[in-house]
Amino acid sequence: MADITIRGLTKVYPGGVRALDALDLDVAEGEFFALLGPSGCGKTTLLRTIAGLETATDGTIRLAGSDVTRLPPGRRDVGMVFQDYALFPHINVLDNIAYPLRVKRAARADRYRRAKDAAGLLGLLGLDGRRPAELSGGQQQRVALARALVAEPRIFLLDEPLSNLDARLRLEARTQLKRLQLHLGVTTVFVTHDQAEALALADRIAVMEAGRIRQLGTPVEVFRRPANLFVAAFIGSTPMNLLPGTVRDASVTVAGARLPVPDDVRGEIPDGTDVVCGVRPEYLDFSEVPADPAGGAFGGTVSVIEHLGGSSLVTLDGEGGPVRVVVAEGSEPEPGTEGWAVPRPGRVLLYRDGELVTAA
Ligand code: ATP
Repeated sequence: MADITIRGLTKVYPGGVRALDALDLDVAEGEFFALLGPSGCGKTTLLRTIAGLETATDGTIRLAGSDVTRLPPGRRDVGMVFQDYALFPHINVLDNIAYPLRVKRAARADRYRRAKDAAGLLGLLGLDGRRPAELSGGQQQRVALARALVAEPRIFLLDEPLSNLDARLRLEARTQLKRLQLHLGVTTVFVTHDQAEALALADRIAVMEAGRIRQLGTPVEVFRRPANLFVAAFIGSTPMNLLPGTVRDASVTVAGARLPVPDDVRGEIPDGTDVVCGVRPEYLDFSEVPADPAGGAFGGTVSVIEHLGGSSLVTLDGEGGPVRVVVAEGSEPEPGTEGWAVPRPGRVLLYRDGELVTAA
């Protein structure tokens, strides 16, 4: 059974902004689930509506089978960590962590025992007497997590939990967060606009645009087979090559190369159809030896080399525009030389009207 079941969820703000548009979503028990998308797509609204901090205009939210759509936040059994951590500045770390238990009127001894346990789990024991202002960003984030944890919520909601940390700390905190979630196995939904963070952490990702989910899948699925050009352009640290082409004689003519259209989709993209070919730089191999363009290789002149650390991004200026290829460190070609980008089998994705048709 899904732990979170959302059907037809719509949120229209008083000004008329439709932040969520008839959205359906199932999150499984114990899942680490990411809501990913550009600014304004409705991620935070969805999280706050699950938490009960916003009321749904329409639709239902069920948590562990019970309809909570009209319940106040305190009766939903969710713990939420906000982007700014929202710690109480005038009380120390341990009192901050114990706060939810005070609200629940737990006995004092019990409160401190459980707060200490949570502090221990997050490596905060030496810091428990300090006030939030005396902590680093990463430590504050851990206090906020411990405070959400201590109430043992059924569901954990995290709004951009790592966004206040600098790049280095962010990577460390990311690993720690993953470790914690694996250890606790609590159903967790987190919001991020950082695709790398979603790919690294989540069991599954919902990629959102304008209040809707454009694709839902595992990190591998959304990376390898983006369902549409929106997701294709959004996912990936190095952007996917997106090359416009046309189908002729059952092949796509694109950037000087010819790619045969697989038999099973010839009816869907007949001759004359305009398509976009998407291929990730990671799924192209660079070759200095002239490859046969009829075999689907993209030729061009090496124009730019960018070092990524461990690998390099090579830009080939070809007939249909630039094509980028990732090459291993040490095997970069010389700028100005001719080269070929050879796609690995099944790695060129064909999009018609922005939607994925097949891989070639
Ligand atoms: P970000 O990554 O920038 O936080 P988001 O994807 O979390 O963005 P939301 O904050 O959910 O997006 O906002 C979705 C839409 O709803 C946006 O167009 C936003 O301007 C609008 N919105 C959000 N909160 C309110 C509000 N309280 N009143 C009116 N409109 C709002």
